Amino acid sequence: MECPHCKKNHDETVLKANLMVCPECGYHLRISPQERIKYIADEGSFVELFSGIKSNNPIDMEGYEEKLEAAKAKTSLDEAVVTGSCTVENRAVLLGIMSFDFMGGSMGSVVGEKITRLMLKGAKEKTPVIIYTTSGGARMQEGLFSLMQMAKTSSAAARLDEEGVPYFVMLCDPTTGGVTASFAMLGDIICAEPGALIGFAGPRVIEGTIKQKLPEGFQRAEFQQQKGFVDCIVPRAEQKAFWVKMIDAHKVTGKYGYGK
Ligand SMILES: [Zn+2]
Repeated sequence: MECPHCKKNHDETVLKANLMVCPECGYHLRISPQERIKYIADEGSFVELFSGIKSNNPIDMEGYEEKLEAAKAKTSLDEAVVTGSCTVENRAVLLGIMSFDFMGGSMGSVVGEKITRLMLKGAKEKTPVIIYTTSGGARMQEGLFSLMQMAKTSSAAARLDEEGVPYFVMLCDPTTGGVTASFAMLGDIICAEPGALIGFAGPRVIEGTIKQKLPEGFQRAEFQQQKGFVDCIVPRAEQKAFWVKMIDAHKVTGKYGYGK
């Protein structure tokens, strides 16, 4: 397998053993939710929740159902996000992981609904929520209904805040559009994988609009950290230990405590 960044060829078993991070240049390859679950959740602890919710093609977009079927076959997923419960070093967590391979990780009504239900469950049960984002934005095939998911997921994130339940985000390559403009930027701690592209509109659109050359590394995780959009950059190999630290650090007793 060739590293898309340094173009070096690596044996797939070597890459897999390195959590799909290039051993040569440190590039974090895009990976599936199924792989991420293996890297984060305690073995055998992940239980999928809210699967089987279907989109009704709300604006009768021609060819949408076929596109959905093709995406399902390609990814072995039923939508662009997988949601479920698991433990991370024996700590209960609700986990949502998006897939860029499923229609560009676009947020339609099902993605919005699954994220919302995950957050509301976290608020009710006082269980921390971790979401890994990767998305091209709202799902055009659902028109206005996809845009409404921004408000819905944002109000669910506010419920977590009201209940004092921590919500952590890991921005993965790429996180853009309506996902950036809603739940991806509402975490208590907002992390990113090294080198991830994070923004709203893409650099070409911005350059064309403001008629100015953009700085080197524009919209990469490191740039966004410098500008204050990202709290910390966490390499894939350190993420599990990082979540343990975050969960323990936020586990307080009293009015705002959770997990009692
Ligand atoms: Zn490389």
